[in-house]
Amino acid sequence: MSTVPTGPAPTAGSAEHQAGGQIPGIKNESQDGNDASNQINWESEIQLVASLAKLQELERQIHVLRQSVPDGVLEPLVPISNSKASPLKSVAETPSLLRSELDKTARNRLSNIENFQSVWRGPELQPIWSHVEARIRESSGELLQPTGIWEMDYDILLKELLKAEKTKEKEAQREEEDAERVKAQSSEGEWGTIVEKFMQRNIPGIRIVKGQKPFSMGIALAKAGMILLVEGMKEADIPGVSEWQVRAKAPPGRSPTKLENSIMNCLNSRPRKWDLAFLLDMISSYADIKSTPCTKCTRLTNNAAQLPTIRRIQPVQISQSEQRIFAFDALHSDCA
Ligand SMILES: [Zn+2]
Repeated sequence: MSTVPTGPAPTAGSAEHQAGGQIPGIKNESQDGNDASNQINWESEIQLVASLAKLQELERQIHVLRQSVPDGVLEPLVPISNSKASPLKSVAETPSLLRSELDKTARNRLSNIENFQSVWRGPELQPIWSHVEARIRESSGELLQPTGIWEMDYDILLKELLKAEKTKEKEAQREEEDAERVKAQSSEGEWGTIVEKFMQRNIPGIRIVKGQKPFSMGIALAKAGMILLVEGMKEADIPGVSEWQVRAKAPPGRSPTKLENSIMNCLNSRPRKWDLAFLLDMISSYADIKSTPCTKCTRLTNNAAQLPTIRRIQPVQISQSEQRIFAFDALHSDCA
């Protein structure tokens, strides 16, 4: 149990930053004012803790602002009135200099107070105040925290909660991918179905020819002038493919171009290497490489005259007749 902290006076900038700054991981649902307060999920523990952290920070700032009068505004006089004052602080050399220091100090202190007020009344706090008032009404006017002491450091608690949430999300994602991988690798013929379905989409500029060897195929990207060879690696104890490998087939007597090399680098550093559908979608995102602009800078070539060869998977995938299609953003290497 800690008492309310009273730290050293922050500068105007830091007070504004801390109070007005967004809490990481929490969307600024309150920006729209009244409407937003109805949308906030007050059942969410993270929401409650994030709100408490904001209130606790405001309370800390109140303690700092209380020192503004008289000590804060009279700071330039301290070396005169107190002979034991820090030797680093010298008395202003002339009365007019002292006057201008007093002016400046008062203005700074006032702007700290104004910043605080605008946060207190601002759209970010408005739904929290409404909620607090509603809760006080519900409890027939009784204050919610009658001890007047903060029981916890809510900003620390919030960081812990956000971290735990992130870990949980990652865990769920990993479990989901594991289940998909096991399913994909459970049958030997699964890859053929994936290739058939992909070919049925008739994506212009891309042609697949199944290879002589099992689990192998050649993919021609006509517009990009590239031929890719894809081959599935198998492990003894699973029926399906454990990893799909891809390499560029350069015409005899020519070494791979810079463009081909950077495409290959990106393909080979892809996730879900067990997933043929993912690989085919990723390869097909290169079909129009020479006319696909960068998602970030919206230009086709960057200053180094490079095309956007990086592919980053879009978080939401398209579903087309029960088939998941992976979509990718195209990026220059210096925009990624
Ligand atoms: Zn770019």
